[in-house]
Amino acid sequence: RIPVICIDGPTASGKGTLAAALARQLGYRFLDSGALYRITALVALRSGLRIDAGHEERIAALARTLPVRFESDRVLLGSDDLTEAIRSEEVGMNASRVSALPAVRAALVALQHSFRRLPGLVADGRDMGTVIFPAAALKVYLTASLACRAERRYKQLISKGFSANIADLCADLQERDARDGTRSVAPLKPAQDALLLDNSCQTMDQTVALVLAWWQE
Ligand code: C5P
Repeated sequence: RIPVICIDGPTASGKGTLAAALARQLGYRFLDSGALYRITALVALRSGLRIDAGHEERIAALARTLPVRFESDRVLLGSDDLTEAIRSEEVGMNASRVSALPAVRAALVALQHSFRRLPGLVADGRDMGTVIFPAAALKVYLTASLACRAERRYKQLISKGFSANIADLCADLQERDARDGTRSVAPLKPAQDALLLDNSCQTMDQTVALVLAWWQE
């Protein structure tokens, strides 16, 4: 069987950094499932669609045929490089709205499964362990305090040249947590067999080392 490690958890808990580091160290492939929702939201808006139930089927049709490629650190859609554009807080918020539409979630399942290839996969998201890869060998549910997450997101946005402020980010994170946790399909929650890890008081190096040790157990 092809090994899969799932890293799920709320926005800005450090999942992406952890999952990418694990994939690099193990030589595994990496699935950033949030990027798929971000791209879907961006493409829907650029196509003049509204992100609501009225346009759900049309957004799902777009999602089923996304010509998306991840090449080294770039996110490409056809010949468009969307790496930077999908990282704005606005696109993140629209991704959260798009991800609450059941037909869109269903439309992205096959694409997510296609990332599972030898020698293995590290999958980062909200429902990797509960819905997409329920038989994964290791599932980690990563959390951190709201203050830590806001501060990390702040640093991330500033380093990418976006403007940001902590109070707005706290409000955004709470709004996204509420929506992600209460939507009707695949609400954010740990898989029953997930290991819970609060990394508020850890460095990323410590978090990576701990999860690698779990993997090698
Ligand atoms: O992880 P990231 O912030 O890039 O994800 C953007 C949004 O996509 C999240 O707020 C969440 O609503 C949604 N998402 C999801 N399921 C996933 C990954 C992301 O619903 N597996």
